Amino acid sequence: DPRKEGIASSIRVVPHVPKGGIMFQDITPLLLDPKVFKDTVDLFIERYTGKDISAVAGTRCRALRIVVEGIEARGFIFGPPIALAIGAKFIPLRKPRKLPGEVISEEYVLEYGRDCLEMHVGAVQQGEHVLVVDDLIATGGTLCAAINLLERAGAKVVECACVIELRELKGRERLKDTPLYVLVESN
Ligand code: IMP
Repeated sequence: DPRKEGIASSIRVVPHVPKGGIMFQDITPLLLDPKVFKDTVDLFIERYTGKDISAVAGTRCRALRIVVEGIEARGFIFGPPIALAIGAKFIPLRKPRKLPGEVISEEYVLEYGRDCLEMHVGAVQQGEHVLVVDDLIATGGTLCAAINLLERAGAKVVECACVIELRELKGRERLKDTPLYVLVESN
């Protein structure tokens, strides 16, 4: 798909951010170009429109739900337009102490130290199908924590969707049985 080339060329690589040796993949130039931003969201919408519609209690309802998460909330940029377009609800997965209500939390290990994702209790229902959206998969630790959290809440993560995959870090392998869909691969 030629749109993916436009997306790939709109990602800026910033060396040594946030620390020496890291090649930070910056999606902000992509957001500055309305066509490329739209292409990015459209590719996800095309993949998820009309998927996984299930009949519940005699009424047709959409079983595909969107959950978005991301460090510094970059998953919040791409998830909501997808959720609105496919008629799914949007659930923010947040950093600790951001959500005001009762939460369910999942801790995970980072390169240095630990982090945690939180979701409001009751945001997902038992058996609901969830799509987890983030900007980028590196080691896969963040998506893995999101999957564990949602499974503990009784939901099924049907797929994870990211704009960028850093192939070298093999994060995909950590997701085990959960499929991963990415638009752009990088090393
Ligand atoms: P992982 O948990 O190691 O897969 O890291 C993925 C998380 O870190 C995602 O929430 C990303 O937003 C963030 N992240 C890691 N590296 C980068 C990067 O180079 N650019 C943007 N986000 C990054």
